[in-house]
Amino acid sequence: MSDIKYLARETVQALTPYLSARRIGGKGDVWLNANEAPDCSEYQLDSSKLNRYPEFQPPQLISAYANYALVKKDQLLCTRGADESIEILIRTFCEPGADSILICPPTYGMYAISAETCGVAIQEVALDSNFDVDYSAVERAVSKPTSQVKIVFLCAPNNPTGNMLDKQKLVNLLQATKGKVLIVADEAYIEFCPELSQVDLIAQHENLVITRTLSKAFALAAIRCGFTLAQASVIELLSKVIAPYPVPAPIAQIATQALSENGLLVMKKRVDTLNNNRQLLQTGLKKIACITEIFPATGNYILVRFKDSAKVFAAFAKDGIIMRDFASKARLENCIRISIGSKAEIESTLTTLNSL
Ligand SMILES: *Cc1c(COP(=O)(O)O)cnc(C)c1O
Repeated sequence: MSDIKYLARETVQALTPYLSARRIGGKGDVWLNANEAPDCSEYQLDSSKLNRYPEFQPPQLISAYANYALVKKDQLLCTRGADESIEILIRTFCEPGADSILICPPTYGMYAISAETCGVAIQEVALDSNFDVDYSAVERAVSKPTSQVKIVFLCAPNNPTGNMLDKQKLVNLLQATKGKVLIVADEAYIEFCPELSQVDLIAQHENLVITRTLSKAFALAAIRCGFTLAQASVIELLSKVIAPYPVPAPIAQIATQALSENGLLVMKKRVDTLNNNRQLLQTGLKKIACITEIFPATGNYILVRFKDSAKVFAAFAKDGIIMRDFASKARLENCIRISIGSKAEIESTLTTLNSL
């Protein structure tokens, strides 16, 4: 046995790392387990200045995203994926061993894992019986005199249940927690329902932060590019903590092209196609007997509860279709999350389900 393990921080020794779809892997041709886009665009790269460190925040990229997201340039921070935003937020606002974050499970797993790696405690206020945020319970939890909660992570569309936020209730929570708690809305999938973004609230609320990514609707999961949107005062603090050259120059070039006028058109067309495919899948799923619940679909995925998900998962695996299993998560017994792929992939999925 190696002793080196005992050299690591105790929290790291105890940590179970996030099991990403890529780490879990699988065998097959139909990959519907990571909410990736099914298609890929081509980009031009200029490699003539790779000897130079990149800009801290590449100006063309920041301008392009600010135009797209309708925020000011100083209200943006570009990060290595939205996952890095989550970590930088925790490292900037939470004192290890003292402060905590609050999450509303079942939700995206990285909030808790990032907190753990930073030695920051995790409080939970479960989603309500509809899987919506229980705003009054969150407000009560963070308003207790003993509360050390510094950040509340909300996710909309919620991964994996698809629930959205209620704007008025969010505004009330922002007002009630002003100056004490940061409220983060994770909008990784907002391109699939852009009218439900909370970005318009940033101008009025200093304690609102929105996280975004190019990994989903922009079909650029490989380049690890995300954005944090907040008032300039928050962005300045995050900028003190993030690495000195967080955005590699080739990534900035690709991301800037994806955010060009033409790039945005391609993205919107992809969203239309995937939203249509989602409709096809929903219609097909409604006719299948072994399904007990279809969750609301707002992103490029649908969570489905089966009578016996292990059997369904095995049937998918046998046919080379890889899905994300949520059956071991509390309240998601027998649930499988299906990413919205191409029309052919949706048809394969329905074929397998109909054969059961
Ligand atoms: C995929 C995902 C992320 C991470 O996005 P990256 O930019 O690829 O790091 C963050 N939040 C949610 C809810 C996600 O589903």
